[in-house]
Amino acid sequence: MNIIQDPLLLQNELLKLKRRGKKIGFVPTMGNLHEGHLSLVELARQHSDIIVSSIFVNPMQFGPNEDYDNYPRTLEADKNKLKQCNVDFLFTPTNEIIYPFGKEQHTSVELNRLTNKLCGAKRPGHFKGVTTIVNILFNIVQPDIAVFGKKDYQQFLVIQSMVNDLMMPIKIIGAEIKREKNGLALSSRNQYLTEAQKDSASLLQQTIKEIAENIKQGDSSYSELIEKAKHALLNNNFKVDYFEIVRQSDLEAASPSDKAILIAVAAWYGSPRLIDNLEINL
Ligand code: AMP
Repeated sequence: MNIIQDPLLLQNELLKLKRRGKKIGFVPTMGNLHEGHLSLVELARQHSDIIVSSIFVNPMQFGPNEDYDNYPRTLEADKNKLKQCNVDFLFTPTNEIIYPFGKEQHTSVELNRLTNKLCGAKRPGHFKGVTTIVNILFNIVQPDIAVFGKKDYQQFLVIQSMVNDLMMPIKIIGAEIKREKNGLALSSRNQYLTEAQKDSASLLQQTIKEIAENIKQGDSSYSELIEKAKHALLNNNFKVDYFEIVRQSDLEAASPSDKAILIAVAAWYGSPRLIDNLEINL
């Protein structure tokens, strides 16, 4: 595995390979890698010849009171995991390389829809940070395909929409959510939980599944289902940020006639804010 910090060096290496007809697959991450990230690498491999991954904890997508400083950074262990997955190139830039004038002064890219809902409504500026860094990374790597996890469903949708809007010749592929045995979605932020807390936190997924079952059986009283779910979570030490039943296409509140639905939740369990979701196709 070739580990590169210099964007131009990486770009040149990849352009040489592209000229030789190689298809480039890209998996951007913030590191602290787990099986979820590695499943993205495997999916990328099915669609490309050369795999590029990046590790960059992007300061622009964190709010002032969020966990940027404490975000788990485990670069050496991450390198080993990616090596074992036969990743060809790992890009590990610094803040100074990506934002030489500071994140405030840097050119930004913003999607003007989808971003004011769910996590976007709760984390102002978050998606502007995401679309900006993904643009920068796409311009460096110039991938043919890029893989994003559907655990961050809104992010996946935002990136896909940005690529369409800006007519970027990149295919965005969504990867299914990888979970612990107990159902809890894998996340770097699960590190903040003990094993016992992780077991209790799996109630997040169980609650979503229960609501999904109700919906599949024809219950379309979505407001009541949402209240029921929030209640169950609040009674079990979660602090709910949002629990919503929306359309997969535009994240607007779902109505009984909608067929492609997403149940999406964000909730604090102790210090970490956990997110999870489930697609339902009626
Ligand atoms: P992050 O390092 O948290 O920015 O995540 C990097 C990529 O991995 C994003 O596309 C995430 O959606 C994806 N990802 C994170 N956790 C999971 C998971 N449990 N299952 C599938 N993809 C995931």
